[in-house]
Amino acid sequence: MTGKLLRLVTGVLFTSLALVGANLTSTASAAPAAPSALARTVYYSASGYSAEADQAAQIWNSRVPNLRLVRGGNATIRIAATNGGGSRAYPCGLGCATIYIDNRDVSAGNYALRIVAHEIGHGLGLPDTYNGICSYLMSGGSAGTSCRNVNPNAQEANRVNQLFAGGFQSLAGTPDVYVKG
Ligand SMILES: [Zn+2]
Repeated sequence: MTGKLLRLVTGVLFTSLALVGANLTSTASAAPAAPSALARTVYYSASGYSAEADQAAQIWNSRVPNLRLVRGGNATIRIAATNGGGSRAYPCGLGCATIYIDNRDVSAGNYALRIVAHEIGHGLGLPDTYNGICSYLMSGGSAGTSCRNVNPNAQEANRVNQLFAGGFQSLAGTPDVYVKG
């Protein structure tokens, strides 16, 4: 209970920071441009699940023309491993999230690459769709541990592509938990 509340409070804090960031950057992105010029670079880091982070970045890059995830730089998507509390993302604006991958989710049989790709999806503006359908990356843990799909479906990829084409309107989300408990 207390942990949940703490996560909620933290999420609100992150969300507030995200709104500030969005305001600062919105004027710079107002001018329309040719599709190829719209590709926005988002830097990420991974202190844990490093190989999965690189693979997930490749997956997203290959499906979203307007996005270019690059490791390094001043990372706004930051991935770390943790023990307990659930795999989760704290979105802080479009292309921004603090992500924890829970080793316990992986031990329980959830596919690590799918979790990482899913949590990055939150950093790219997607909400959860806990519909139990494996072809949705954002169905997360609702699709069960047997689901090893690591690719966003066309609907999810198109949504992210639209978000990155349209500037900086973001999902101001509350903290996400991969496996709802
Ligand atoms: Zn999620």
